[in-house]
Amino acid sequence: MNNCIFCKIAAGEIPSAKVYEDSDMLCFKDINPAAPVHLLLIPKIHFDSLAHAQAEHQTLLGKMMLKVPQIAAEAGLSNGFKTLINTGKGGGQEVFHLHIHIMGTPA
Ligand code: 5GP
Ligand code: ZN
Repeated sequence: MNNCIFCKIAAGEIPSAKVYEDSDMLCFKDINPAAPVHLLLIPKIHFDSLAHAQAEHQTLLGKMMLKVPQIAAEAGLSNGFKTLINTGKGGGQEVFHLHIHIMGTPA
C-alpha cells in the first residue's frame, strides 16, 4: 500500500492546484507557499529523493529539468526563478517523493 501524499496527488486521489501535467510529471501549487509563486514539480512514478534516483530515471529527470523554465515562464516568472531540491531529513526534505520547488515573484 503506497501511502505517499504526492503519489495520491499524482493519481488525483488528493486534490491539487495543477499548473502542468503530462504522462511523466505533474506540477502543482505548494499548499504553503514560501514565495508569491511556489510550485512543486514531481515525477508520476515514485522514488523517495534525488539520493534514490537510478540510471533508469536519467531521461525522466532530464525531461523535468527542461520543463522547469517553461513552467516558470508560464507562471509569469520571466525575470527569473529559484529551484530547490531538498534531499533527505538533513536536507530539509519532508515529503519523500522527489520534487523540485520552483519559486519566484512575477515580473
Ligand atoms: P520538502 O520540505 O519535502 O522539500 O517540501 C515539501 C513541500 O510540500 C512543502 O513546501 C509543503 O508545503 C508541500 N506540501 C506538503 N503537503 C502538501 C499537499 O498536500 N499539497 C500541496 N500542494 N503541497 C504540499
Ligand atoms: Zn510517491
